[in-house]
Amino acid sequence: AMHTQLLIGGRLVAGEGPEDAVLDAASGAQLAGVAAASVPQVEAAVAAAEQAFDGWVRTAPKERAALLLKIADALEAQAADYAALESRNTGKPLAAVSSDELPAIADVFRYFAGAARCASGLAAGEYLPGHTSMIRRDPVGVVASVAPWNYPLMMAAWKIAPAIVAGNTLVLKPSEQTPLTALKLAALLAEVLPPGVVNIVCGRGEPVGTALTSHPRVRMVSLTGSIATGQKVLAAAAGNLKRTHLELGGKAPVIVFDDADVAELVAGVRTFGFYNAGQDCTAACRLYVAERLYERVVADLTGAASSIRVGTQQEPGVEMGPLISQAQRSRVAGMVERAAAAPHMEVTTGGRPRAGSGFFYEPTVIAGARQEDEIVQREVFGPVVSVTRFRDAAEAVRWANDSEYGLASSVWTRDVARAMQVAAQLQYGATWINTHFATVSEMPHGGFKRSGYGKDLSVYALEDYTVVRHVMVKL
Ligand code: NAD
Repeated sequence: AMHTQLLIGGRLVAGEGPEDAVLDAASGAQLAGVAAASVPQVEAAVAAAEQAFDGWVRTAPKERAALLLKIADALEAQAADYAALESRNTGKPLAAVSSDELPAIADVFRYFAGAARCASGLAAGEYLPGHTSMIRRDPVGVVASVAPWNYPLMMAAWKIAPAIVAGNTLVLKPSEQTPLTALKLAALLAEVLPPGVVNIVCGRGEPVGTALTSHPRVRMVSLTGSIATGQKVLAAAAGNLKRTHLELGGKAPVIVFDDADVAELVAGVRTFGFYNAGQDCTAACRLYVAERLYERVVADLTGAASSIRVGTQQEPGVEMGPLISQAQRSRVAGMVERAAAAPHMEVTTGGRPRAGSGFFYEPTVIAGARQEDEIVQREVFGPVVSVTRFRDAAEAVRWANDSEYGLASSVWTRDVARAMQVAAQLQYGATWINTHFATVSEMPHGGFKRSGYGKDLSVYALEDYTVVRHVMVKL
């Protein structure tokens, strides 16, 4: 049976707000109706988190860690069910969710279980003679976390694990388009965690998201979503000066120097530009290619992209699924149509929605894009890669950094010194060299500029979810 109940104060309860239809993105058919939380239910969730905080903050790190390990074990034991549910809702290929997402999700809980037991800081000491100073890292309090639809369960894990292991309590709001795996997780958390440590409420940004982000008893808001939502969250957080943790999309530049291994590059962009149908904030979507390799890269990438197997969740060999919704597909189609209408750009493959049901869009390559073009400047969040030629490294770096986004980037060259020089100049939270988009639990994920400043994963996420405190003793 599908889980559609919210988790408030340790109890699974039906939402009392309006129902949102949850669709299968590969067919457009309705999978479930999920009743949103009413505003009083949001308030009850915050109250439950606040009530749970006093007890939770006093548990030892190893006790909290042990519960995260239990969650990881249970996720692993039920991985096939979670993967199937995630794949049904989002339309992602089942094999990709099973082999890529579920193991990474369990690992996030395991990583934070360990990391919480090795917090580091400045050494205690007598920095003022006759006084001993020490550093503490304490939780912020009640955290509200708001998640997007592109990796629903993974984003829930990224937000829950560091927050609660650090001693905070939490209210999570999954996206109204993809709440199902978070609600399945709710049933698991209700068994494993003390009541109120994690609460899960569903519903739209307005009113459920705003009820959380403006709530005076919420001390921190974590959001993964669009820039526009980030700006609204900041405004709502101003009331009681909440700490904010924002991850807001990207437009990753891929700089290809004339000594790059073209076969590796093309294979890399085929994978990392089109993974999750390009609905990934780190997607390798904005290529800058040295003149000498430009024609070859366009030709080979066009061939590679057109060979991507697009289909429904369980079709044999499927590599790419649909976009999340009709609205998202229209947005992507509009951007590609505007690019195609410009005389200097050419759609070398794709450029069309796929006929039939579901929200499919063909893998698309756009050649001849220029720096000022919309397709280079704005996030598409779809299976679309643009290719732009550059003359020298300075131009490539200037164009790569000429963006409102600052999340992810990559550099492709056999010259180690050049790779390191360029990596040092890029204004991006991550730079990969001769690959793209490989994420590990130990390393931070987060950006610069309008991509936001919250770090997910790694000890930096633990820092974001804690307050540095100084305690001084007069001897
Ligand atoms: P979105 O901003 O529309 O929604 C994100 C979440 O915010 C949803 O749960 C939504 O209900 C909620 N929300 C909307 N308005 C709100 C408000 N006023 N107050 C509080 N909550 C509100 O984004 P989306 O369409 O779900 O996701 C796509 C966007 O997210 C893309 O722009 C993408 O780049 C970005 N994204 C970023 C990262 C990252 O790590 N930086 C990861 C995934 C997605």
